[in-house]
Amino acid sequence: MPGTDHVATHCPYCSLQCGIRLVSDPVDLTPDDFPTNRGGLCAKGWTAAELLGHPGRLLTPLVRTDRLRPASWTEALDRITAAIQASQRRYGPDSVGCFGGGGLTNEKAYLLGKFARVALRTSAVDYNGRFCMSSAAVAANRAFGMDRGLPFPLADIAETSALMLVGANPLATMPPAARYLDAGKANGATHIVIDPRTTATAARADLHLQPAVGTDLALANGILHVAIREGYADDGYITERTTGFDAVRASVAGYWPDRVERITGVPEHRIKQAVRTLGEAGSAMIITARGAEQHGNGTDTTQAFINLALALGLPGRPMSGYGTMTGQGNGQGGREHGQKADQLPGYRRLADPADRAHVASVWGVDPAELPGPGLSAFEMLDRLGTEGGVRVLLVFGSNPVVSAPDRDRVLNRLRTLDFLVVSDIFLSETAVEADVVLPTTQWAEEDGTLTTVEGRVVRRRRAVTPPLGVRDDLAMLTELAGRLGRGRFFDADPRRVFDELRRASAGGIADYNGISYERIDREQGVFWPCPSNDHPGTPRLFTERFATPDGRARFVPVEQRDPAEAPDRDYPCVLTTGRTMQQYQSGTQTRRTPTLAAAVPEPCAELHPDLARRYGVADGDLVELRSRRGRGVFRAVVTDGVRPDTVFAPFHWGGSSSANALTNPVLDPLSRMPAFKSCAVSITRVGGATDPLPAVAEPAGNTDLEDPC
Ligand code: SF4
Repeated sequence: MPGTDHVATHCPYCSLQCGIRLVSDPVDLTPDDFPTNRGGLCAKGWTAAELLGHPGRLLTPLVRTDRLRPASWTEALDRITAAIQASQRRYGPDSVGCFGGGGLTNEKAYLLGKFARVALRTSAVDYNGRFCMSSAAVAANRAFGMDRGLPFPLADIAETSALMLVGANPLATMPPAARYLDAGKANGATHIVIDPRTTATAARADLHLQPAVGTDLALANGILHVAIREGYADDGYITERTTGFDAVRASVAGYWPDRVERITGVPEHRIKQAVRTLGEAGSAMIITARGAEQHGNGTDTTQAFINLALALGLPGRPMSGYGTMTGQGNGQGGREHGQKADQLPGYRRLADPADRAHVASVWGVDPAELPGPGLSAFEMLDRLGTEGGVRVLLVFGSNPVVSAPDRDRVLNRLRTLDFLVVSDIFLSETAVEADVVLPTTQWAEEDGTLTTVEGRVVRRRRAVTPPLGVRDDLAMLTELAGRLGRGRFFDADPRRVFDELRRASAGGIADYNGISYERIDREQGVFWPCPSNDHPGTPRLFTERFATPDGRARFVPVEQRDPAEAPDRDYPCVLTTGRTMQQYQSGTQTRRTPTLAAAVPEPCAELHPDLARRYGVADGDLVELRSRRGRGVFRAVVTDGVRPDTVFAPFHWGGSSSANALTNPVLDPLSRMPAFKSCAVSITRVGGATDPLPAVAEPAGNTDLEDPC
């Protein structure tokens, strides 16, 4: 940044994208007064610079002979090119696949989707955001015709009179956002939290509803039932701005509060209290997150809360509405620009001839050359190495060995691949399995854009020179495209990639056409849609009309279904998984950050005192959780902050403490989201408070490289 001794950039982690000022020599960071964080940072942001210069950083490509060994870029890229060409010659274009990530910049996500379709000509591309945002996205598209996490700026949360958070714990996952909650409380707002755990956010709520895991949909329908019965439905809004209400009214008629209490465990009087809080508030917001969404019926559960918001007349009203809290750093932009299996940039659809024609014209290719839609993330992983499945996989910005459900199944599939390529900054649990590992740049070493939870496009700015031997993903993809004879379609310069993304998105739902790097600098980010240079951007959506063909939001009737896996004699408890304040996603970065690792050195499982007593477990003991798919060992935390029928474990660790070794890969039929939040487990005490946890390492790591994780 000219004239200053610091560079203004953003935290590498979650979708709040807190502003950071970074000094490079010596490296130091301070929080910026950016609209999303207003000078606040959480522990992850404060310690982000500890990864710059980390001794475990990958600084050279690695290739596998019998083991992974250092190699030149030429050798690494030669091997990848040869593997791609041999596989496609023998098995066809779809035998090579790409797996992306919700932390990649918009430019990388865009170029990865283009690389798959134009350089590889494969339909096999998807990303880990399928594990994160897909249910909310499908529900929002169904109801509003558009999916943007928050359709209003974060600051509006401070101005609403009533806030209902469903399966969201922003005090732990994005603490600087708490200022907006606190300001709302100071303004007299009432906060309701729906969560099976008494999280930090739930503990500060005025009303905490604690439903059994997997019953949120019944609770939402029950709240709507009471709201209609007590006259809180906004008839004028329903008539003018929506369609389909009669079917929803009929569908919730059977959700009597006493029946809903039996299904969810939430007392009837508390359901009525929630209804009156929302119904009598001058403005109100309902915000969901992964707790409601990561289920085999996550789309319908999200839809039930959208139905509630619509019936109360909230979406599009001042300081009101429905939203979802995106998780990953670019969870919003990462799902807009083409790394999803069925999608082209700007939320265009790969199956739509007009969308294909537009994007093909920007890319300079024949639309007929573009492949069709492919399989979703878990489906692609589950068919690796099989007849018709992917045989050569390129992974960018993702660690599916830790983040995908049913870890052992995914690991086994990865090991059947003919060739695995992983681009990462550390030797992650997935990189350990690779045939070639490519060392990539990290946040402070690269330029690009990300899109925040509120739909604000922000700049990531390079503040530090990358180490010698490291290349950014744009350069890798462009180089590989060149080796595959498609280099003329690619450019590694982030600004030029973004300008092409703008053109590709023009006229689409997520229209970035009017957003330039210069505007982002001047305006502290720009909200999409922004179709032209003179358009102000769109901080608040749906104020006049929804993005559906008739401009009206759509009610969709939805019914409670039991979770795919219910507790039984062999697996009598419910496991739900989630995040901790000090860790981020698969932990590739945060488990290697010394300050964070010292703060939470071990993965802990939370058990209610009644449950702990039943299994003879004391606080600090080691417990083995076992499901039909696998097992993991955790340090027990005995707390009455979790339901007596439920155990909670964080998913950030791999190896012998992998929560995802247990989780159920059953998929939501619409979003293809796995049911991370609910599976049946048994509990066994396997050690005391002084016994060490088994080393957290993958069961069959196959490298002898030192990784000082
Ligand atoms: Fe902000 Fe999220 Fe980074 Fe924490 S992890 S500093 S909340 S962007």
